[in-house]
Amino acid sequence: MSGDHEALRSRLPEEARSRVSALREASGVVTVVLDASGLDQLGRDRLEVAVKGALRQADGVSEVRVAMTADRAPEPRREAPRGPRIVAVGSGKGGVGKSTLSANLAVALARLGLRVGLVDADIYGPSQPRLMGAEGQRPTAHDEKLVPLDTQWGVRVLSVGNLVEPGRAVAWRGPMAGGALGQLMDAHWDNTDVIVIDLPPGTGDVQLTMVQKHKPDGAVIVSTPQDLALIDATRAMNFFEQTKVPVIGMVENMSGYICPHCGEESDPFGHGGAEAVAAQQAVPFLGHIPLDLAIRQESDAGRPPAAGDSPQGKAFRAIAEKVAAWLEQTA
Ligand code: ADP
Repeated sequence: MSGDHEALRSRLPEEARSRVSALREASGVVTVVLDASGLDQLGRDRLEVAVKGALRQADGVSEVRVAMTADRAPEPRREAPRGPRIVAVGSGKGGVGKSTLSANLAVALARLGLRVGLVDADIYGPSQPRLMGAEGQRPTAHDEKLVPLDTQWGVRVLSVGNLVEPGRAVAWRGPMAGGALGQLMDAHWDNTDVIVIDLPPGTGDVQLTMVQKHKPDGAVIVSTPQDLALIDATRAMNFFEQTKVPVIGMVENMSGYICPHCGEESDPFGHGGAEAVAAQQAVPFLGHIPLDLAIRQESDAGRPPAAGDSPQGKAFRAIAEKVAAWLEQTA
């Protein structure tokens, strides 16, 4: 009878033949067991129709029964729900303007029409509540998840600084920090296109956990132009490379100083260093932000310069346009 089975088997389309795990025939009734691993419901239906159609035409066959087995249940056919894109802003060390850039990047992206969230993960110095004018506000929780705070700049924000007293978070060790930062990320970020994360400075454990757990789509690195900061910035770049986070580009902050009194331009921290390092590392350069008293004053007052159309605001906008273009290209 095995010869007959071979004849039946040879009638099957190629795709079905390779999936036959048993084929029996008794009194004109053919029973075929097929391995349907990896097929979704549509694929299984098609296979069954093809097998029945092919075997029914064989001489002496009155009925074809098909059974399917699969190693694992077929994947349900549905669109994966897409969460917000995530852009991490990092720096090799503190004090280079990472938080200032994060806040203004978020505001400028919102002005470009994106729905933007800002997560302040800088447990060592959470400054987003001040920068965004949301100091002293406490986020509520809904279904055990935090509800981001609305700000007047069209950006929703969650910061460690809104959860604990200033200075308290600094003493957190890895798991505690990871838990708190996880709450900021797993909050009600529905209807958000992009979340900007203000990472803690440096490339330690907290950053590593954050990046591995929340997998940013890309990273922006901020540096001042002087050599020492650039060594740290290069380390940050390597960190993102090793953790497989694409570097969207590098921003040079505090680049060139225009004296508010005499208008003379000087370069207390140098100029163009970050741009040169970006070129050397083959990483895009996103723009310069000048060292400008107005940036510090406006930031301290909770008014992100990117919310206005001053030259400083435009400098942030130009960077946001490049980040938005990158997000679109990689969507
Ligand atoms: P980081 O997040 O890297 O520690 P911050 O964004 O908190 O740095 O900036 C450190 C200080 O420098 C803040 O007082 C901020 O207002 C100021 N600052 C940042 N960028 C500029 C700039 N381009 N011009 C003037 N002051 C700036």
